[in-house]
Amino acid sequence: MSPGNNTLSSIKITFLGTASAQPSSTRNHSALALHLGGDVWLFDCGEATQHQIQKSSVKMGKIKKIFITHTHGDHIFGLLPLLASRTNGAGGMVDDTDDPRLHSQSSVEADPIEIYGPLGTRAYIRNGLTYTHTILGIPYVVHELRLPTDPDTADHTSLVHHTSELPSGRNILQTGEIPNTWPDIFSNDLVTVSASPILHSVPCVGYVVTENPIPGKIDPKKYIPELRRTKTPLSVMSRLQQGESIELNDGTILVGPQRRPGRKIVILGDTYDPSPIVPIAEDADLLIHEATNAHLPGVDLNTKSDETYETVEERTKSRGHSTPQMAGIFATRIRAKRLVLNHFSPRYAGDDDVNEESRRVMSAIAGLAKENFAGDVVCARDLMSIEVELPK
Ligand SMILES: [Zn+2]
Ligand SMILES: [Zn+2]
Repeated sequence: MSPGNNTLSSIKITFLGTASAQPSSTRNHSALALHLGGDVWLFDCGEATQHQIQKSSVKMGKIKKIFITHTHGDHIFGLLPLLASRTNGAGGMVDDTDDPRLHSQSSVEADPIEIYGPLGTRAYIRNGLTYTHTILGIPYVVHELRLPTDPDTADHTSLVHHTSELPSGRNILQTGEIPNTWPDIFSNDLVTVSASPILHSVPCVGYVVTENPIPGKIDPKKYIPELRRTKTPLSVMSRLQQGESIELNDGTILVGPQRRPGRKIVILGDTYDPSPIVPIAEDADLLIHEATNAHLPGVDLNTKSDETYETVEERTKSRGHSTPQMAGIFATRIRAKRLVLNHFSPRYAGDDDVNEESRRVMSAIAGLAKENFAGDVVCARDLMSIEVELPK
């Protein structure tokens, strides 16, 4: 995000991996890139995410922050290799005095890669980098979102800090007026990020990225006659647009339109019930919700004859996951405008842009979510990008 520019021209999301369980030839493990202006924030980083980045329009060097929803391997196994590539580091060459990474202390002044995740994220990275003798060319820092049942201070590993790890990583406790949430874990002049636990088989986090209020809609007819009458340059319209008040040379005060809420994006990790995030997720412009399993008799030819929706939902929930119908219910509950489903079972191939059979299955899955949600539903596909539009 360029300094001094206090509005985002566009917010775009690129899905880098949309598989649950095993990756397939058409779906990689979980990761998505949120493009905020020029910067990229990654959410989850499953195995081979850096390969997916190479196939996408995401620029590795633009990745500034990484948010991990939970430490299941399909969401974090790609993090260490990605960090090594992103920071011009790699393992196994520390004895080579010509290794450029050994002279990388000059880049200590570079902004660190900031990583957020639940307890264990810091230990996983520190242990992984230490035992693979990996040196990074840019420092990193890990902020952990601690549950009341977690230790609130310790690092959760006896290893000392990795040479590239800044000691300024925070252990963020649940505070604030809304119970059980981590409010404002990051904010700048463009966006604020808050988080909340969501229910899965292991501790898991959902993130809410909210764009700061944006300029209101300006009605030129309300201002231009006054500006003409007082011979005020029309260029002040841009200040009015920003919500400023302008005093004209005859003492008249023109008040710019009130700022209006910016875009809100809710990015959930794996979940069978994301209820705890409701208070901070309401009225989302975009909800990204997993839909691991579906019951598709007549569409998915592998559907067993004794299966019913109820048995599929029960099995899905018991593994910590959701069906499309559950995602639709949650989207309605938080009054989301748009729902994107991801984290699909490997049985649902992700080549629905070119394969008629896959298209039938994925549109049926979207249809199941629509049974419970009146808004737009999209099934994510690897390397698909979507724009998050400004509210009308
Ligand atoms: Zn998963
Ligand atoms: Zn999981």
